[in-house]
Amino acid sequence: MAVERTLAILKPDCVRKELIGDVLRRIQDAGFTILGLRMTRLSKREAEGFYAVHKGKAFFDELTTFMSSGPCVPVALEKENAIADFRALIGATNPKEAAEGTIRSDFAGSIGENIVHGSDSVANGQVEINYFFDQATLVANEPVG
Ligand code: GDP
Repeated sequence: MAVERTLAILKPDCVRKELIGDVLRRIQDAGFTILGLRMTRLSKREAEGFYAVHKGKAFFDELTTFMSSGPCVPVALEKENAIADFRALIGATNPKEAAEGTIRSDFAGSIGENIVHGSDSVANGQVEINYFFDQATLVANEPVG
């Protein structure tokens, strides 16, 4: 299996509920390596840019208002099969449909406030990581040994 990178975002509800540590613990327990991590508050415009693929959908304004409502924590992650494995770890978009034991099933309140983002493809993962991190920083953070 190929080593892949994915972008996680611990969303504003995760930060507000003081779940940063719990969610990072689960991510690390699942074998992901953290290559980059920061806390930031997105402007409405930045949230619209990040979720541009959803522009025009009924939930776009609600989504981007929520994503800019408070600080979030983007995390660049690496692992074999990272894209699929991270989506499995977080569960379905709607927490009511998420498998038992997944992050969204255990922590999320609604489809709009679902604790965590995960990239849906290797190509998108790269684009999304670049939205928040300098490539040089990630290289410098690669594990030694
Ligand atoms: P994801 O890849 O599982 O995050 O899901 P999508 O890429 O399809 O959607 C992006 C985000 O938009 C989701 O994580 C949800 O927070 C939000 N979203 C998706 N569908 C809905 C919806 O029907 N209503 C609301 N309020 N938010 C939604």
